[in-house]
Amino acid sequence: MRVDDVAAPQTLAEAISILKRRPEVIPWAGGTLLMTIGDEAGGGKPVSVLDLGRIPELSVVSRSDRYLEIGACVSLSTILALPPSLSLQPLRSAAGFIGTATVRNLATIGGNIASRNSFMSCFSALVCMDAAVELRDASGSRWSGMHALMNEDNRPRFPSASLLTRIRIPTAPWDATVLYRLGEATSQEPYAASFAAAARFEKEMISELRIVAAGRRIVRDRALELSLVGKRLPISQKDAEAARAVAKARAMEAGFGDGTAGLYGEYLAAFLSGVQEEGL
Ligand SMILES: Cc1cc2nc3c(=O)[nH]c(=O)nc-3n(C[C@H](O)[C@H](O)[C@H](O)COP(=O)(O)OP(=O)(O)OC[C@H]3O[C@@H](n4cnc5c(N)ncnc54)[C@H](O)[C@@H]3O)c2cc1C
Repeated sequence: MRVDDVAAPQTLAEAISILKRRPEVIPWAGGTLLMTIGDEAGGGKPVSVLDLGRIPELSVVSRSDRYLEIGACVSLSTILALPPSLSLQPLRSAAGFIGTATVRNLATIGGNIASRNSFMSCFSALVCMDAAVELRDASGSRWSGMHALMNEDNRPRFPSASLLTRIRIPTAPWDATVLYRLGEATSQEPYAASFAAAARFEKEMISELRIVAAGRRIVRDRALELSLVGKRLPISQKDAEAARAVAKARAMEAGFGDGTAGLYGEYLAAFLSGVQEEGL
């Protein structure tokens, strides 16, 4: 990636005003993904960069009774260092397997979920956790669900001339969570797709369930989730096997390769079979 010029605003207002005047500038947080994808970001041409690293409000972490709010430029290592009393799973797992400690010191949560080409590892975790994102442009700021960052084709979408400023995560813990890489990176995506799931139990039944696979596209099958809510623990082998087959078929429809879709189905079946031990 060849950088032509760098703007380094010190306030959000300044950053937004630059983006309004020059919507082609590329926001730069930790730079660990932009450096990996190289020339893809500028289509081979020199690019102008908007360095977000000097805007203090993007690095704030705050907590209320029900939510944790994380500034977009908070690093993955800062998230991993948050008190263990905040369960934050499956986000912690996603952040923990990204790169090395040095990469995680630079890499930000905002850069992870604002990736333009693929859904990166924290995305599936945050969808499972019912996270919301704050987006800001010249007309102001607004909170939306994670769906605001997906298009109708289940691919990443990021509104132009906008910044992701905060991520809000409900802190009510989940009873069981999981996060896996779905195999290896492919020629189409720089890092492997991920599978995340989270469940809550009540009276030895599944009361809430989220199941998400994300890579080049994202798959969340609400019909499958609903079909499993209300099932008594332990989940029967028959139900886990049926879920495996549905999940695999759904992922293939969404454009995942046979191997990745198969792994997704297998990990889901293993998660469902495993929740019986945790749940009882
Ligand atoms: C060795 C190595 C291993 C890695 N392994 C993984 C992995 O397993 N899984 C994974 O997900 N990633 C992986 N990464 C990629 C990367 O480290 C992470 O995705 C990281 O979280 C990206 O954050 P960043 O701050 O570096 O983003 P940047 O590179 O700065 O930006 C990424 C994208 O987000 C945009 N952006 C950044 N911040 C904002 C904002 N606030 N508002 C709007 N747009 C914004 C940028 O314009 C760019 O398009 C790896 C990287 C390395 C070097």
